[in-house]
Amino acid sequence: MPAHDHFHSVMSIGPVQIGTHRDRHGQTKHAAVCTADRCGWSADYTSQSAAQLAARTHRCKIR
Ligand SMILES: [Zn+2]
Repeated sequence: MPAHDHFHSVMSIGPVQIGTHRDRHGQTKHAAVCTADRCGWSADYTSQSAAQLAARTHRCKIR
Protein backbone atom coordinates (compact mmCIF):
# COMPACT_ATOMS: atom_id res chain seq x y z
CA MET A 1 0.00 0.00 0.00
CA PRO A 2 1.50 3.31 -1.01
CA ALA A 3 2.00 5.89 1.68
CA HIS A 4 -0.70 8.32 0.70
CA ASP A 5 -1.01 11.07 3.25
CA HIS A 6 -4.43 11.13 4.83
CA PHE A 7 -5.75 8.49 2.47
CA HIS A 8 -9.47 8.21 3.04
CA SER A 9 -11.08 5.12 1.61
CA VAL A 10 -14.47 5.74 0.07
CA MET A 11 -15.32 2.47 -1.62
CA SER A 12 -13.81 -0.63 -3.06
CA ILE A 13 -14.28 -2.41 -6.36
CA GLY A 14 -12.95 -5.92 -6.18
CA PRO A 15 -9.46 -5.73 -4.67
CA VAL A 16 -9.14 -2.07 -5.59
CA GLN A 17 -9.87 0.64 -3.06
CA ILE A 18 -10.98 4.06 -4.16
CA GLY A 19 -10.12 6.91 -1.87
CA THR A 20 -9.30 10.54 -1.71
CA HIS A 21 -6.19 12.22 -0.49
CA ARG A 22 -4.54 15.57 -0.85
CA ASP A 23 -1.44 15.93 -2.89
CA ARG A 24 1.42 18.18 -1.90
CA HIS A 25 -0.27 21.11 -3.62
CA GLY A 26 -3.31 20.74 -1.38
CA GLN A 27 -5.54 19.49 -4.17
CA THR A 28 -7.87 16.58 -3.60
CA LYS A 29 -6.99 13.58 -5.71
CA HIS A 30 -8.91 10.40 -6.24
CA ALA A 31 -6.67 7.42 -5.87
CA ALA A 32 -7.26 3.84 -6.95
CA VAL A 33 -5.12 1.43 -4.94
CA CYS A 34 -5.00 -2.32 -5.41
CA THR A 35 -4.86 -4.08 -2.07
CA ALA A 36 -3.78 -7.46 -3.44
CA ASP A 37 -0.49 -8.74 -2.16
CA ARG A 38 2.39 -8.33 -4.59
CA CYS A 39 0.36 -6.24 -7.02
CA GLY A 40 1.18 -2.77 -5.78
CA TRP A 41 -0.78 -0.96 -8.48
CA SER A 42 -2.03 2.50 -7.69
CA ALA A 43 -2.85 5.63 -9.61
CA ASP A 44 -4.21 9.10 -8.99
CA TYR A 45 -7.09 10.65 -10.88
CA THR A 46 -8.73 14.04 -10.88
CA SER A 47 -12.26 12.65 -10.63
CA GLN A 48 -13.82 9.79 -8.75
CA SER A 49 -15.51 8.45 -11.87
CA ALA A 50 -12.14 8.13 -13.56
CA ALA A 51 -10.77 6.29 -10.55
CA GLN A 52 -13.77 3.95 -10.55
CA LEU A 53 -13.34 3.23 -14.23
CA ALA A 54 -9.68 2.42 -13.68
CA ALA A 55 -10.59 0.14 -10.77
CA ARG A 56 -13.09 -1.77 -12.88
CA THR A 57 -10.67 -2.23 -15.71
CA HIS A 58 -7.67 -3.05 -13.50
CA ARG A 59 -6.38 -6.52 -14.14
CA CYS A 60 -4.35 -7.91 -11.32
CA LYS A 61 -1.09 -9.45 -12.41
CA ILE A 62 -1.31 -12.07 -9.71
CA ARG A 63 -4.59 -13.60 -10.89
ZN1 LIG B 1 -4.01 -5.53 -8.64
